[in-house]
Amino acid sequence: MSKQLEAEIARRRTFGIISHPDAGKTTLTEKLLLFGGAINLAGAVKSRKVERHATSDWMAIEQERGISVTTSVMKFTYRDFEINLLDTPGHQDFSEDTYRVLTAVDSAIMVIDSAKGVEAQTEKLMEVCRMRNTPIITFINKLDREGLAPLDLMGEIEEKLQIECTPLTWPIGMGKTFKGVYNILRRQLHLFTAGHDSRLSPGITINGLDDPELDRLLGHQADELRTDIELLDGAANPLEYDHYLSASQTPVFFGSAINNFGVRELLDTFVEMAPPPGPRQSATRVVRPQEEAFSGFVFKIQANMNPAHRDRIAFLRICSGTFSRGMKVRHHRLGKDITLANATIFMAQERSHVEEAYPGDIIGLHNHGTIKIGDTFTPKEELKFTGIPNFAPEHFRRVLLKNPLKMKQLQKGLVQLAEEGAIQVFRPIIGPDYIMGAVGVLQFEVTMARLKNEYGVEAVYEPVDYQAARWVSCGDRKKMAEFERKNQMALAYDAEGFLTYLSQSEWMLKFFMEKWPDVEFHKTRENI
Ligand code: GDP
Repeated sequence: MSKQLEAEIARRRTFGIISHPDAGKTTLTEKLLLFGGAINLAGAVKSRKVERHATSDWMAIEQERGISVTTSVMKFTYRDFEINLLDTPGHQDFSEDTYRVLTAVDSAIMVIDSAKGVEAQTEKLMEVCRMRNTPIITFINKLDREGLAPLDLMGEIEEKLQIECTPLTWPIGMGKTFKGVYNILRRQLHLFTAGHDSRLSPGITINGLDDPELDRLLGHQADELRTDIELLDGAANPLEYDHYLSASQTPVFFGSAINNFGVRELLDTFVEMAPPPGPRQSATRVVRPQEEAFSGFVFKIQANMNPAHRDRIAFLRICSGTFSRGMKVRHHRLGKDITLANATIFMAQERSHVEEAYPGDIIGLHNHGTIKIGDTFTPKEELKFTGIPNFAPEHFRRVLLKNPLKMKQLQKGLVQLAEEGAIQVFRPIIGPDYIMGAVGVLQFEVTMARLKNEYGVEAVYEPVDYQAARWVSCGDRKKMAEFERKNQMALAYDAEGFLTYLSQSEWMLKFFMEKWPDVEFHKTRENI
């Protein structure tokens, strides 16, 4: 095993930020990039988004609405660490991409708004993290505002997200009385000043909580802190690294992203604690990152990043070995060898060609429709990484063609967009309809815009009476045949020919599942 490869793996951290919209993900991202020296200007993350999105039509949709649909990858270095931050869109109009990005990370940071506590989308994203037991560090944000009591916040996280909290810093006051945070492990005090750039402040070391310096700095709030910490000593869960790694415990930090306060503690602990790229399961065996042979899988495809070339970029996460420019790999699904000549690596501000990349890194491959989500690349061995699923859509629309002569193009467009993971497409067994399914409703508009721009198909969509979808399977073929025969009206095939049950309500779905106990109803489907 090469020493260099091992060292490169050890210093890599690949993660995503999960949060509900407006909790402060973009702000935190920006501050993290500042520490990494990847950007110099506050606001750069947002403005960069706008600039790039201005380059294509369908991205104009997101620009109009001031949201981000696409997922970007940002790479920066901090101390000796190479960090890949995979940005997950946070708007409620998020898509399956948001979910799938989480299949390509080794850990996550969860941002919670201290005034709002655990919100709906955080719960959804947490569900996905749980599928792979992704370790999570929590950042409770906006302490410069009045919010919920820290103990209540932790209680809510424990209850709603079913994960034990262990505070590593503790806030002193909040809103107008916010004085700073006390680092419980390092026994250091960090004093807060609004707008202060905490990169410059190493923190004040105090000699235990009895230090009179504490009273001088905090006034009457010193005693409050003492009481809190005493209480935590008895009541809070101690940090257990194994529990963090197995995602049953989350270390908690408090701060204010906009004031860049508490962010450094978060980042320092993150690089030290968060796991480097680890082994990954494939259909046949576990692949260790230290293996010499290169391997990686595609978790996202992004279209039209450059409309002049109408190119699509496939985002590949490296799982093992070393990538070097120009290397030959096998595209197993197509049974073809291809040369990875112009892979792109994503830096915070620019894209550049990659010469070498290592496990945990994300590279972008130019794709002319031959790469699908879930595709695995290796030089020889036929591998198929698992755990890159499709997620059951929650919204449905029927596609209506404006010009019936364009049926072929519509079909082609929908199938390709489905392969790319932009939308899911279902063909009911009975009837001529095309039903689109998505995790977030914005995808419908995006799909219409792309059908028009890329396939020359003018289509519209209308509401349709479905509320839930499940892929169905059954070990007993006879039972399955019976199920199919009796429920044709409610069954459809997805773009890859998998049988799907489309339900008019959650209640109906439950009823069906009880009625057909031998049939399995799957919320996710592996792209095989
Ligand atoms: P995102 O939707 O999760 O990416 O959230 P943003 O980073 O865009 O932040 C949402 C809003 O909260 C913006 O107006 C930010 O300026 C604001 N915000 C972010 N962090 C803080 C903070 O620490 N304190 C306060 N008061 N506002 C914040």
